[in-house]
Amino acid sequence: MIFEILTIFPSMFSSPLEEGMVGKARDRGLIQVRVHNIRDFTEDKHHMTDDRPFGGGEGMVMKPEPIVAALRAIEGSGPAARSILLTPQGRLFDQDIARRLSLLSRLVLICGRYEGVDERVAQYFTDDQISIGDYVLTGGELGAMVIVDAVARLIPGVLGNEGSALEDSFSRPVLEHPQYTRPRDFEGMGVPPVLLCGNHETIRRWRRGQALRRTRTRRPDLFARLELSPEDRRLLEENGDG
Ligand code: SAM
Repeated sequence: MIFEILTIFPSMFSSPLEEGMVGKARDRGLIQVRVHNIRDFTEDKHHMTDDRPFGGGEGMVMKPEPIVAALRAIEGSGPAARSILLTPQGRLFDQDIARRLSLLSRLVLICGRYEGVDERVAQYFTDDQISIGDYVLTGGELGAMVIVDAVARLIPGVLGNEGSALEDSFSRPVLEHPQYTRPRDFEGMGVPPVLLCGNHETIRRWRRGQALRRTRTRRPDLFARLELSPEDRRLLEENGDG
């Protein structure tokens, strides 16, 4: 899969998308991340990417010309692409959107700055608008990184263990069960004995019960949408409230 990122701060992407699983996936050619500097597509001598808002008001607005020129320049450089504008006014990004995006061959992510991007870019040149949460960031770059990370790990071969993406919170959609690792005793705090029993079925049942309880307590909205199996109901009863 190819990710094309349009930004005025390309160097922000260097380290975050070169480390860990995403970095390895790039090295192995499973994904490509192409970062384009919107400023390179300006035609005036000061390389302006923003201007004052029509109608007055605070701040600056990103001009449409360089963004659209960048979109046109990359248009034929790969398979058909879906273009997404990062904006706090977009639909809320979640695991389901990440899963759908992971099926695409090429994704263009447009990062805004200042007071945002001229509305005509959203209206006429993008397929979708996505927000990564109900808060306002100074730019779309962190949002683009969130999307690349969440989408890339769903592409077959990116994670060492394909099963682990399926186990994740929201994939099923229950929150994941609690995880423990060595040491067995950390400053007097142990791990649940069931995890040491060696019986895979007992551990599976315990984890499922914990995941259900956790979802019920922390995310009642998700819990309300769950279709509980007879086993789930039994596990919840066994585990009690909490
Ligand atoms: N004035 C805009 C508004 O109220 O909708 C906010 C502009 S914000 C300061 C600048 C840029 O940051 C946006 O154009 C967008 O690309 C990005 N951004 C900010 N918050 C975001 C969020 N929650 N999700 C995605 N992108 C965000």
